Amino acid sequence: TNKVIAIDGYSSCGKSTLAKALAKKLHYLYIDSGAMYRAVTLYFIRNVVPIADQAKIADALSAIHIDFHTDAGQTRILLNEEDVSEEIRQMYISDYVSEVSAIRAVRLAMVDQQQRMGSNQNIVMDGRDIGTTVFPDADLKIFMTADPKVRAERRYLELKNKGEDITLEEVFENLAHRDYIDTTREESPLVRADDAIILDNTNLNEEEQLQFVLDRL
Ligand code: C5P
Repeated sequence: TNKVIAIDGYSSCGKSTLAKALAKKLHYLYIDSGAMYRAVTLYFIRNVVPIADQAKIADALSAIHIDFHTDAGQTRILLNEEDVSEEIRQMYISDYVSEVSAIRAVRLAMVDQQQRMGSNQNIVMDGRDIGTTVFPDADLKIFMTADPKVRAERRYLELKNKGEDITLEEVFENLAHRDYIDTTREESPLVRADDAIILDNTNLNEEEQLQFVLDRL
């Protein structure tokens, strides 16, 4: 059968960097579950879907089609055929994505698609509920943490480099806000699966993190 590696943790812990490196090394497919929630959020904003309107949410979810495809070695995310890979990284999406992700119907739709993507191919998937809800029987589960200040600094530099006009405080607040909603929501909150291995990467470089996981396979 196919293999599944689940990587969960707080916002901006370096999950996607590690997951990508791992997928490349093992020739597995990398799936960014957070990008899916971000794409749904973009659709909700563009189409003015209120987070309390169950009927509109259901309509929106049936109109949303998310796909991943690889272009020159880079994974791109498509929302109804449109490449939204850059758009979903903008701060206005980060500010709202956790509210949208807390909606039960949204999670059911995303989890269903994620499980189908991981049913017949070897994957590394990162997110918040991969080891607990999406793939409770994953072959390996990693739970990532890092010092909140270090996380905010890393993400701040990343956004700055992309030309976002933002302060370190705003980034710190956004991470704290998302972590709060993600850990306290009713529907599959962010929590370490009992059998997930903790990886605190505050003082580890990318190679050391990759080796940490490879040693546990
Ligand atoms: O991984 P990323 O930070 O891009 O995810 C954006 C947001 O999507 C998270 O803050 C969280 O609210 C939500 N999310 C989620 N479940 C996942 C992945 C992401 O609720 N599996």
